[in-house]
Amino acid sequence: MSIHLADLVRTIPDFPKAGIQFRDITTLLADGEGFRTLIDELAAIARPLDPDLVVGIEARGFILGAAIALAIGKGFVPVRKAGKLPGVTVGIDYVLEYGTDRLELHRGQVPNGSRVILVDDLIATGGTAIAAAQLLREQGADVLMALFAIDLPDLGGRAALEAEGVAARAILT
Ligand code: 5GP
Repeated sequence: MSIHLADLVRTIPDFPKAGIQFRDITTLLADGEGFRTLIDELAAIARPLDPDLVVGIEARGFILGAAIALAIGKGFVPVRKAGKLPGVTVGIDYVLEYGTDRLELHRGQVPNGSRVILVDDLIATGGTAIAAAQLLREQGADVLMALFAIDLPDLGGRAALEAEGVAARAILT
C-alpha cells in the first residue's frame, strides 16, 4: 500500500464531550488517494460476498456505504436517526450510555430474504451496529457482514457484533 491510511485520521480530544478521543475521518475523506484507497479496500471485501444491497448508517456510514455500493454496482439504503426519513418507516430503539436512541429504515426498502452488507465509519461499543443489524434482521434480511473504516477494539464492539452472529471487518484499528 503506497499510502498509510492511519496517518490521515486525526484524533480530536474532548469531542463531543470531555474525555472522549474522537477519531475524525474527514481528513482521510479530503485526501483523494486516501479516500480511494479506503473504498478500494472495503469494496474488495464486499464484492465477493455479492450482496443485494449496501446499507449505511447515518451519517458517515452514508459516505462510505454509498461509495462502496457504487464501486460494486449495488444499491444503497440509508438507516437514519429517528424522524429523518420521509416515507413510512420501521425502526428500533436501542440503549446508549445515557438514554436511548432510535434508528429507522424505509419500510420495504430491504426486502425479506435480501442479503445485505452494513457499513459505518467506526465501531466503538457496537451498540449502533448491533441495533442496525437487528433492525435489518427483523425485516428478514441476512446481514452478510458489517464493514467499518475503524475499529476501536478496546471497546469490544466488533466482538459483541460477532457474538450476535454478524461477521465484521475493519480497515484500521
Ligand atoms: P458505538 O455504537 O459502536 O459505540 O459507536 C459507533 C457510532 O458512533 C458510529 O455511528 C460512529 O460514527 C460514532 N462514533 C463513535 N465514536 C466515534 C469516533 O471517535 N469517531 C467517529 N468518526 N465516529 C464515532
